[in-house]
Amino acid sequence: MSEKQCNTEDIKKAADILINAHHAIAFTGAGISTESGIPDFRGPQGLWKQYSPELASIDYFLQHPKEFWLFYRMRMSTLFAAKPNRAHYAVAELEKMGIIKAVITQNVDGLHQAAGSSNVIELHGTMRRAVCLACGRTYPMDVVIKKIDSGQIPPLCDECGGILKPDTVLFGEPVKDFDRARELALMSDAVLVIGSSLSVYPAAYVPIFVKEMGGKVIIINMEPTELDYIADVIIQCKAGDAMTLLLKEIKDRLGIQ
Ligand code: NAD
Repeated sequence: MSEKQCNTEDIKKAADILINAHHAIAFTGAGISTESGIPDFRGPQGLWKQYSPELASIDYFLQHPKEFWLFYRMRMSTLFAAKPNRAHYAVAELEKMGIIKAVITQNVDGLHQAAGSSNVIELHGTMRRAVCLACGRTYPMDVVIKKIDSGQIPPLCDECGGILKPDTVLFGEPVKDFDRARELALMSDAVLVIGSSLSVYPAAYVPIFVKEMGGKVIIINMEPTELDYIADVIIQCKAGDAMTLLLKEIKDRLGIQ
């Protein structure tokens, strides 16, 4: 796929919106992390081009925990090696500047926090932790990886012997912290959407709530999304390029080095 250049006029419009907003938030998806080497689900190199989405469902986990964990173990190798990219760092800097108040993410990779964002809502949980389905005890993922690599598949709880599950939201499970996300969206007058196909609900309600309350919607995505029709500005290029240009435009206008 040929890479599109970011449109400068769109970057300027997005900067206008964010500078004038009283309460702006970022809403991110797997597309912000592809430049860190983590494949998304539905993009051109997405995981679902290779695997069936059924693999990420709670039903599949409960029926085939061993196969599930073997698939996950493979994904985790990529995930733990990944570092934040320019887009994650730009989001974190916009938060430090007070332009963005919070990040609501569908990602489970922890890269926003690694880049320095502090107010992060992880709607789909985190891959950095596993939870016992029987007693609820949580384990850091490196402890769980050791269990798997020493042959305990699926990994089990030391306390009660229950099966451990990644603390991520699988298809068929409820999202986490949605009330907080909705509250934030309803009080926001702008949302900067980065790298999401906006096709997974209820997460995709976040930009819809902002729009319904009269706020502005900026969408940065390489391809069209399912909610382009509610966008005030669409920036169709790579997240790293778009966020670098947007951060520079905002800093130039505010006279920040
Ligand atoms: P998605 O795969 O449905 O959509 C990603 C979008 O990002 C696509 O439209 C693609 O065109 C775009 N994109 C890819 N690379 C880009 C780039 N460099 N710059 C700009 N746009 C880019 O992802 P989603 O909307 O987040 O929803 C699917 C689910 O994916 C979520 O539930 C999330 O939990 C899960 N997921 C997370 C990770 C992660 O944590 N990094 C990785 C894969 C999937």
